[in-house]
Amino acid sequence: MALVTTKEMFKKAYDGGYAVGAFNADSMDIIQAIVAGADSVKAPLILALSEGALKFIGPEYAVSTLKAAAQTTDIPIALHLDHGKTPEICKACVDYGFTSVMIDASAYDFEKNIEITKEVVTYAHQRGVVVESELGAIAGIEDDVNVDDKYGAFTHPDDVVEFVSRTGIDSLAIAIGTAHGAYKFKPGQEPQLRFDILEEIQEKVPGFPLVLHGASSVPQDRLAIFNQYGGDLAQAIGIPGEMLRKAASMAVCKINVGTDIRVCYFGEIRRQFAENPKKFDGRTFLGPAQKAVAEMVAKRITDVFGSNGKA
Ligand SMILES: [Zn+2]
Repeated sequence: MALVTTKEMFKKAYDGGYAVGAFNADSMDIIQAIVAGADSVKAPLILALSEGALKFIGPEYAVSTLKAAAQTTDIPIALHLDHGKTPEICKACVDYGFTSVMIDASAYDFEKNIEITKEVVTYAHQRGVVVESELGAIAGIEDDVNVDDKYGAFTHPDDVVEFVSRTGIDSLAIAIGTAHGAYKFKPGQEPQLRFDILEEIQEKVPGFPLVLHGASSVPQDRLAIFNQYGGDLAQAIGIPGEMLRKAASMAVCKINVGTDIRVCYFGEIRRQFAENPKKFDGRTFLGPAQKAVAEMVAKRITDVFGSNGKA
C-alpha cells in the first residue's frame, strides 16, 4: 500500500469514536518497531518525525523506509511532520513525500499564526497533503496556568471556529491540559484534562478532527527498568489511559506518543547492555528494544486509542 493522508483515517475515527495513534520515531529501527506494533493489531498508523528526527535520519532515508514499510503491510500509514516551526520546513516535507505536515506557529499571536498556517495550507493542499496546526499553548511542567480564568492558557472555543474557517486546516492541536515531555505533572498534582472545553470546541466545529499532543502515559514498569539499569529519570506521571480513551470517544482523532517510545526503547537497551556484557552484536540489543516498542505501541492502540482492527 502507498502512504496515505490522514483524511480518511480521521473521518472513520471521528465517526467510530476512536483515535489514531501518532508515534514519534527518532531512528530507522524505531520506525520499523512502530510499524510492526501497529501492524500486529491491524491499526491505521501515523508515523511522526520531529524536525530534529528528520535531520538525524535524513529525509531520503525516512521517506524511503516508510514507503518500504507501507509495501510490507496492508495497514494505512501516514508520514507526518511533527511541530514544523517554519513554512519552509513544512513545504520541504511536502516535496520530500510526506503526506501530512504540522505547522506550529502557536508561539505567535493569533493573526500571525493564521497567516503562517494559511501559507502552508495553500502549498500543501495544492499537492494533496494535509495540514495540522496548533492553537493555544500546550504546557510544559514549568508553565504556570492561570486558574482564575475559565479558559486560562487553554484553547478558547471561539478562537477555534475562526482559526479553522480562516486557515482551511485539516486538523487542529488543542491545549486542554496535556503537556510535552516526560515530566508532565508535579509530584502530588492530579492529571486533569478539561473535557468541558473539549466539549465546547466539539460543539462549535462539529465533525472537525482534533489532536492531543503530550499524551504519553509514561508506563511505570518501563520507567522502572530504565532506572534499574543505570538510568536516572525522575518519577513521572503521564496522562491516565481512561482520560485519553474518553477524549478519543469525542472529537479527538489523533493522539501523539513520543516519551513512551524513548522510555521503552532505551530502558530495554540499558537492560540488554547490563545482561549481555560479553556480546557486541547489535542485534542482541536492538531486537529486544524494538520488541519493547512494538508491544507498547500495540498495547496503547488496543487499550486506549481503540483503533485496533480499524485498518
Ligand atoms: Zn507536540
